[in-house]
Formats: sequence, structure tokens, C-alpha cells
Amino acid sequence: MVDARGVVKSFGSTQVLQGIDLAVQPGQVVCLLGPSGSGKSTFLRCVNHLERIDGGRLLVNGHDVGYEKRRGKLYELSERRIARRRADIGMVFQRFNLFPHRTALENVMEGPVVVRRRARTEAADRGRELLDRVGLADKASSYPSQLSGGQQQRVAIARALAMDPRLLLFDEPTSALDPELVGEVLDVMRDLAADGMTMLVVTHEVGFAREVADVAAFMADGVIVESGDPRQVLGDPRHERTQSFLARVL
Ligand code: ADP
Ligand code: MG
Repeated sequence: MVDARGVVKSFGSTQVLQGIDLAVQPGQVVCLLGPSGSGKSTFLRCVNHLERIDGGRLLVNGHDVGYEKRRGKLYELSERRIARRRADIGMVFQRFNLFPHRTALENVMEGPVVVRRRARTEAADRGRELLDRVGLADKASSYPSQLSGGQQQRVAIARALAMDPRLLLFDEPTSALDPELVGEVLDVMRDLAADGMTMLVVTHEVGFAREVADVAAFMADGVIVESGDPRQVLGDPRHERTQSFLARVL
């Protein structure tokens, strides 16, 4: 689903990604951990077609991000083709980014109606199912301001699911939440993982990563320092940088 080989990305003269190698297989949960500023969000943005890479190769859902192959050559994708590929990728942000003037259900229906051109009644039925799945069946008519942070983030997850994504990206989905609300969001993510959803999760939740991830990767200064079995990477890391990071967050 994701295959990054030597992915390089610079902003001006700063090389933020210095050759990222990372793979996410179908049905896998890969957790990406690392200090702030190491390039985790930039990498997710590249996977989600929000940034163009400057070097290496990045395949998502079998396609080169930003390019298409025709007669053996790579061509830059049009905005329209990019939008079509992005529709298969769900992303959940640290700040929930819900439309404030729309109800929970309307937020969940938006993508299917606008992008997939589904009928409103059909999108509403599916939206209710998805709100039920994240434990918010009774909040369909609530506005974001009437919901807790944990509830808003669960609406954001339902909204991402409404597009039937092949891949879900999470960028520190619990970092903006009060501690007592973190668990309800992690529970929903755990259910999705158990259902076989393919997920790439940037998180500082070491316990979640250890329990749920198939692969944990530790990133620092634009490179993957080590990756593999979460019990090893997070329980008995080989690299000093991983050890000192874990000592700080645990
Ligand atoms: P992380 O998510 O690991 O905290 P980021 O990917 O957000 O790291 O940022 C990595 C580095 O890239 C930081 O130094 C940040 O300032 C820089 N950066 C990120 N986005 C941009 C941008 N659009 N323009 C310039 N620099 C950026
Ligand atoms: Mg970030």
C-alpha cells in the first residue's frame, strides 16, 4: 500500500526527509514515532499527495505519488488525477478539522456527496452507520462545538471512513486531547486495526504502538533510524536515539 525508497524532500535549502525507506503492507498497522521536527508530518503529507518529493520513489496504492506511468515513462499527474487518487486515502489530523457549521452527520456525509456524488439519503444512511461504529450514534445532529475533543476526533475518523479509503493516515490523532479522552479514540483505532484496515499512524502513544502495530518505525532528523517488531524497537531499541526518545516519552 505504501512503498517508500530513499524518499527525499527539501524546503528551500533544508532537507527535511533524507532518504526514507518504509513499507506498509495491506492490512498492516505501521506506527511512526520520533521527536518533533523529525519530518513525520512531512512524510505523511507526501504519502497523501500534499507535497511533491524531490528524490527517491514513493508508491501509494501501487501508483507513483504525483506521477503516472505511460509507455514506460513517468509524467506529472494533473490536479484532477491527484484528487482522484487522494480520494482513496483517508487522513485524520491532530486538530480534527471538522466543518464547524455542519452537524456530525453532515461532516461525515460531505465527502461521499461532493466527491463521490452519492445520493444524500444513501450518504446519510451510511453516515449514521459510521457514527454508530465510532460510538456516536446519538450525536448525529450535534455540532462540533457541542462535542468533546475525543468525540470530534471520532467524527473525524468516521468522516475519513465514509470515503471507503484503502489506506488511513493518522497524524498524532490524540496529541490535542485531554488525557482522559485519549483512550476512546485509541479504542476506535484499535477496532479498525482488528478489522484489517491498513493504517500508517504517527503517534507518541508507545503503549498503543506496542500493542497494535505490526511494525514500529523510529524517525529522527529525516531518516528512519530503526524499524521492525514493535516489541523490539520500543522494548529493546538498538539505537541510542531511540532509547533516549523512549526514555523521555515513557
Ligand atoms: P514532525 O511532524 O516530525 O514534527 P514536520 O514534518 O512537521 O516534523 O517538520 C519537519 C521539518 O520541516 C521542521 O523543521 C519544519 O519546520 C519543516 N517544515 C515542515 N513543513 C514546512 C514547510 N511547508 N516549509 C518549510 N519548512 C517546513
Ligand atoms: Mg508533525
